[in-house]
Amino acid sequence: MIPAAFDYEVAESVEHALGLLDGDPDAKVLAGGHSLVPALKLRISRPSKLIDIGRLQDLSYVRDAGAHVAIGALTRHATVHRDVLLQEHCPIVSTTAGKIGDPQVRHRGTIGGSLAHGDPASDLPAVMLALGAEFVIVGAGGERTVAAADFFTGVFQTAVGSGDLLTEIRVPKLTGSTGWSYLKFHRRAQDWATVGVAAWRRNGDAGVALVNMGSTPILATSVAAALADGASVADAAEQAVAEAEPQADLNASVEYRTHLAKVLTRRALEAATA
Ligand SMILES: Cc1cc2nc3c(=O)[nH]c(=O)nc-3n(C[C@H](O)[C@H](O)[C@H](O)COP(=O)(O)OP(=O)(O)OC[C@H]3O[C@@H](n4cnc5c(N)ncnc54)[C@H](O)[C@@H]3O)c2cc1C
Repeated sequence: MIPAAFDYEVAESVEHALGLLDGDPDAKVLAGGHSLVPALKLRISRPSKLIDIGRLQDLSYVRDAGAHVAIGALTRHATVHRDVLLQEHCPIVSTTAGKIGDPQVRHRGTIGGSLAHGDPASDLPAVMLALGAEFVIVGAGGERTVAAADFFTGVFQTAVGSGDLLTEIRVPKLTGSTGWSYLKFHRRAQDWATVGVAAWRRNGDAGVALVNMGSTPILATSVAAALADGASVADAAEQAVAEAEPQADLNASVEYRTHLAKVLTRRALEAATA
């Protein structure tokens, strides 16, 4: 289909983008366009104005920031996948970025777009939730930092409001002997996850988050609690859906999703433990 009419502006700086967003609640930011353009063509999204931030090189970086790695919102999935700093300190992030879509999607799509879009079927949101990442959002009221646990608020809804720009993602480094795994079940290699599981383990601590098991990525706190109480990986994985609210769709019934979540959680934890 052909999108509804919209104005188009190219942002030359973050401040310029914020100025263009200001006072127009129906304006939308365009980053890689790999989620927004399909939505425009289906007329699911009908913005008054597109503000193209695709040339803001200032927002494309991966930096060592001490206890965390800072990733600019406009960093493409392919760059995240190849980045040496992330491979060293946050390998679950770089590995997961390499599992998104196909090479074309990874060369256009951005980490900020993936997170701001708030699709519960996307891969990186669950990874960020499991790791306890933070998100830097800039808007008319200034800059604020939002924890991953508060960032994803509903289907295609996040803490990024109209007039806001997500500028940076702060990912804690995986220190010491942390084991990790991201597992994704999908029918074809380039598909979104039918179900995905991000997991890490370090000594007695663990974090597990689920993809496509509710209206947002789901933090499986019951799994981590069971492990902390001394449960085996197999028994803890049975708790995978305690916080989830899976829905049926053309790819999977609720029962099938529930089964996948438990199996993938067990396998991800086994890999993280190994
Ligand atoms: C064929 C195909 C397969 C795909 N497969 C997968 C997959 O397997 N796994 C997966 O996770 N994803 C997948 N995707 C989605 C892909 O990762 C997108 O690139 C991503 O979801 C959106 O990033 P983008 O930069 O393209 O954002 P855009 O499409 O430009 O924007 C998406 C939304 O985020 C907003 N936005 C973007 N950047 C910012 C910002 N900095 N601040 C505020 N708001 C912002 C936009 O206004 C828009 O609402 C796939 C996409 C396609 C087309």
